[in-house]
Amino acid sequence: LGSKINHALRNMGTASVVDEQALDACLKEIATALIQADVNIKMVKQLRDNVKRQVQIEDLAAGLNKKRVIEKAVFSELCSMLDPSTEPYELKKGKSNVVMFVGLQGNGKTTTCTKYAYANKRKGYRPAMICADTFRAGAFDQLKQNCTKAGIPFYGSYTETDPAAIAQAGVDRFRQEKYDLIIVDTSGRHKQEDALFEEMREIEEAVQPDCIVFVIDGSVGQAAYDQALAFKKTVPVGAVIVTKLDGHAKGGGALSAVAATDSPIIYIGTGEHIDQFEHFEAKSFVSRLLGLGDWHGFMDKITDVIPEDQQPDLIEKLQGGTFTMRILYEQYANIMKMGPMSQVMSMIPGLGGDIIPKGADEASHERMKHFMTVMDSMTDAELDATDMKIFQEESRLRRIAMGSGRPAREVGSLMQEFKKMSMMWGKMKGLKGFSGKGGMSA
Ligand code: GDP
Ligand code: MG
Repeated sequence: LGSKINHALRNMGTASVVDEQALDACLKEIATALIQADVNIKMVKQLRDNVKRQVQIEDLAAGLNKKRVIEKAVFSELCSMLDPSTEPYELKKGKSNVVMFVGLQGNGKTTTCTKYAYANKRKGYRPAMICADTFRAGAFDQLKQNCTKAGIPFYGSYTETDPAAIAQAGVDRFRQEKYDLIIVDTSGRHKQEDALFEEMREIEEAVQPDCIVFVIDGSVGQAAYDQALAFKKTVPVGAVIVTKLDGHAKGGGALSAVAATDSPIIYIGTGEHIDQFEHFEAKSFVSRLLGLGDWHGFMDKITDVIPEDQQPDLIEKLQGGTFTMRILYEQYANIMKMGPMSQVMSMIPGLGGDIIPKGADEASHERMKHFMTVMDSMTDAELDATDMKIFQEESRLRRIAMGSGRPAREVGSLMQEFKKMSMMWGKMKGLKGFSGKGGMSA
């Protein structure tokens, strides 16, 4: 997915004129990639419309970072899709919080109940678990085993067949014993759907939970929306937990679950083990969804490096066509601030391997560092010179080399690099919508 999105953006980056059509084409590719990652088709369409509304063509044409403008818009749009209008239920101290878990069989409810209990036990709560799954053979044994390992009291029955009755009895018992977090695990058989939903309703009525958590397997694809909606229509779901995000899950279904239940994701499951459980963080989830190792971090770095208020200034300088050593120096400094190139590039999907050969980035990083050292021993007049002529004086180059302690041939290489870059900027003079990628080729 990531590489596809990047491909779309890269095409955008090379389009010399950024117009509505180019933006549409780019968004179309991104949309296709998101659908392949199991994001609901309707939501993708909505995302497309919203991004289009957010991104102004004129901004794209004038700015250095049209790619980033789109990236940011897509990113923030996905984040806001994960942000429902409702707040998650907060456990309250000094009362018996009853939390009921629902979801289809195999999605990870029982495992997640245990993880949830354990996580809150570590926060100082006294959890207890109830097995209200009488459908699956061995369900009670599984819960018992989990609880024993985690040191959590449990309740269930081998003989009672009415899950609502078990749930009620368990909650009553644990309330009396003053447990402050009572967790009700339910069944989620696939077949006999009507019966399942009726059962959920009965348990809900019997125990009157403070919160109902809907558990969904992260690899459920386009079916996620309907599945989540079916549960929401039956019982008042208030939170979502997405499981199995450690595997090959594409994760797009999570967005559907949020939309269908209008409930926030509170945790994610990242493995079978009890502590493979994390608080949900929209930004890193979206990064993951987009296949960018760390898109969020990358964005932060980008905005760090070129403060917005400095961008017009830089654009003006570039459009004026007056390229100087100082601009080159600033460019290098910006790149250095971002860390080694491979690290920066690896945050962009698809760029990691194919653009910069292994090792080459370190070499180029070193090279930039040396060039900067050379430039450090230049005078202001040299740094701001708009004419290469002054660098044709042999003695001047010698002085710069001596002053910086770098070999003369390196000073020569810098001059060549400068010439190359300044020709590039020259070509951009008056050109609107140029790509801001130049300057990275040390
Ligand atoms: P239930 O039928 O909804 O109660 O689902 P279970 O809790 O029994 O889980 C079904 C299977 O999914 C089990 O093999 C679990 O170990 C596994 N599972 C649950 N959560 C995760 C997770 O976050 N990651 C992985 N890899 N496996 C999980
Ligand atoms: Mg279960």
